[in-house]
Amino acid sequence: MDYKQIWAGIRSMYEDEGALEGKIRGEHLGSVIRLTPYAMAANIGSASLMLWALQDLRSIGLYLWYTCMLATACVAMQRWRHYAHRQLQTASRRAARRATWHASILAVLWACLPVFWFASVTSGQQLLIATLFTGMLSAGTFLLSPLPRASLCYASIFTAAALWALWDAGEPIMAGVAGLMVFYAPINMVGAISSWRKATALIISRSEAVRQEQLLSTVFRDFEQSANEALWEIRTNGMLAQASARLCTLLRLPPAHAPSTSLPEWLAQHAVRENDAFSKILDQQAPFHSLPMALEIHGERFHLAFTGKPFKDEWGHIRGWRGVVADKTSIVQAQEQLERLAHTDSLTGLANRFFIHQAIAEEMQAGRGGALLLIDLDYFKTVNDTLGHSVGDAVLQEIAKRLQTASAPTHLMARLGGDEFAVLMRQSRDGSYPLALAQRQAQILAEALNRPLHMEGRRLRMGASIGLALFEPGDTDVDGLLVQADTALYVAKDAGRGRYVAYTPEMGERNQRKARLENDLREAIQRREMSLHWQPQIDVSTGRLCGAEGLLRWQHPELGAIAPTEFIQIAEQSGIIDTLGAWVLLQACEAAVHQPALAGLDVSVNVSALQLRDADFVTVVQATLLTTGLAPHRLELEITESVFIEDPARALQQLHALRALGVRIALDDFGTGYSSLSYLSQFPFHTLKIDRAFMQKAGEHGCGHTIVKSIVRMASDLGMRTVAEGVEAPEQLALLCEMGATQAQGYLWSRPCSAEAFAALRSKWDQGTAEERVPMRSEAP
Ligand code: C2E
Ligand code: CA
Ligand code: CA
Repeated sequence: MDYKQIWAGIRSMYEDEGALEGKIRGEHLGSVIRLTPYAMAANIGSASLMLWALQDLRSIGLYLWYTCMLATACVAMQRWRHYAHRQLQTASRRAARRATWHASILAVLWACLPVFWFASVTSGQQLLIATLFTGMLSAGTFLLSPLPRASLCYASIFTAAALWALWDAGEPIMAGVAGLMVFYAPINMVGAISSWRKATALIISRSEAVRQEQLLSTVFRDFEQSANEALWEIRTNGMLAQASARLCTLLRLPPAHAPSTSLPEWLAQHAVRENDAFSKILDQQAPFHSLPMALEIHGERFHLAFTGKPFKDEWGHIRGWRGVVADKTSIVQAQEQLERLAHTDSLTGLANRFFIHQAIAEEMQAGRGGALLLIDLDYFKTVNDTLGHSVGDAVLQEIAKRLQTASAPTHLMARLGGDEFAVLMRQSRDGSYPLALAQRQAQILAEALNRPLHMEGRRLRMGASIGLALFEPGDTDVDGLLVQADTALYVAKDAGRGRYVAYTPEMGERNQRKARLENDLREAIQRREMSLHWQPQIDVSTGRLCGAEGLLRWQHPELGAIAPTEFIQIAEQSGIIDTLGAWVLLQACEAAVHQPALAGLDVSVNVSALQLRDADFVTVVQATLLTTGLAPHRLELEITESVFIEDPARALQQLHALRALGVRIALDDFGTGYSSLSYLSQFPFHTLKIDRAFMQKAGEHGCGHTIVKSIVRMASDLGMRTVAEGVEAPEQLALLCEMGATQAQGYLWSRPCSAEAFAALRSKWDQGTAEERVPMRSEAP
């Protein structure tokens, strides 16, 4: 026994003001008070017995003693009644001290008995007193043990009084009794203190348990109320043990079914994927953390995360599992939403470029074949520019809808940006994607997209060109596939819009050549690879040389002569056309002023629709005329009908501005593309150039003849000159003459030729050597 610790414990119980000490005091005091009636009954009974046994003494002191005894018992009972119906939670230090005093007073009262009367009574009475005194000593000490100071004071007073009385008796035998007393009393005290210690330890551990329980219940209450979490517990057979309401809510499990539900089975039944994930993790018989489970019940998709560990009995056998389940639905949904946003095009809801790229890569990695369609809307830019962006957006949304309705569920539709869309056609089986199937789908899409759109009461023809490329199992180059589809798309656009084209390797070569030409074209002017050739224009009625058309030539150092039809298109697509066109204009004007061969002749320069769209074009023409000093009426700009497709109003405005400069405007290739006669009435062209194709048809007779004839008449009615292109045969010339065409140009006189060759031609012409090649000339004056 550690006495220091025991004394400190007793001191603390009596002196410290802490809640625990108060509680210990309260409990101990309560247990003593509860026994008060029995103790007082014993006291009064014993005191009465003594009064009876010692009645022959007839001592007033004895009666007085007895009265005091009764009074003390009454006071004690009074206190008992005060506390009887109360559960003492705590007791003050004063109350504990008062108990010590009460015990001491009682002990002093009993001590009077041997002190005053032991020596003077008979040995029989002495035996009675000693027996009763010993009994009262041990019973009292034990009864008061919860209050150690009271118990010790009580025992000490009893012992001291006994020893005093034995000594006072003066008989040798009493020394033996005293010896016994000295031995007996401390044992009583030690027993009392030990019992106090045990009781105190019990009180402390009980209050600690209560405190923990309170703490836990607060924690659990908070936990169940605040978080989207619940506790779960299952037995080894998987059956739920004590499922809380919250757990049932989280599991979407009717509470009535909970006791008969196996958690692993419930989860397996409703798991969206990996049905056995929970069972598997239990099999590992180890703690696990945040096991995600995606579940679906009655169409509601929700996400839970399970954390848990097995619990074991005292022999180490697993008795079940318990842990926490958290509802992660909102978090998962937010994540999915974010992912969707990163993967979808916000305007149409289709996949975006990034996502389809990834999807193609996945198909390739899985070793499957597939097909990719790239779709480009033909007239979207016009709609967007003329009707505004909101209509443009609505068009794109409608197109997306059409794509979706026309595609199979396994297809992935994406908007790559602007008016470009893509469809990835996936297949479940291995092997190549059948070309015929892909083509059929492309055809379906082309038809769906070519159907007119109805927007804000307007009927819009959108049209779409489609490029198709296949990838084979084993292919890994996503970018390569996109380039192929893009190449096919360009071919489709070139071939006239509104159709689909499947990629072929030859297109790849074309594409490479195109890329190379585009690259080389940027430096062709500086490298002096460009030159302007001239083709003479003849006055049909007089046979006189009246003008020359400047035609651009590119002599590539490695690839040789490149056809203007090829490189002009590349220049237009790559934006080089403005620079190139300005250079041609400058060359033509300078030549017209400085080359003797062109003296007195009109010069024609071809102008691309894209050049005309450039806001600075009029300024460029004006500046060129100024710097070269060419008289504006000698310059004719040849434009094609395509300038009116995108923005007719703007084109007309530009043309009027050019006309105001004094230059002449010719409508080139009339009769080929869009041939709307309405343009002719809207803008006063100086010249109408009848396309070569018409001349061929006119030569073959039939309706071509009639058409050319009526075009020529109409032009002359509108005050325009007509220039017939591609006149190769004298018969054609005769026909033109008969129809009344103004001018002609063609191989009949000369192919387009270099400035030197043209100079030679001119001098020959002027000397009249060209006479034989110009049959009409002889008839001219
Ligand atoms: P285009 O403006 O219609 O030019 C007439 C084309 O017909 C020229 O082809 C010319 O060589 C060809 N040609 C002339 N007479 C005959 C003939 O009797 N029979 C046949 N079969 N063909 C004949 P070229 O030089 O190959 O030019 C093709 C096109 O390239 C031109 O068609 C024009 O649209 C464009 N182009 C040429 N130079 C320029 C330029 O400087 N700027 C722009 N924007 N386009 C140009
Ligand atoms: Ca031309
Ligand atoms: Ca032409």
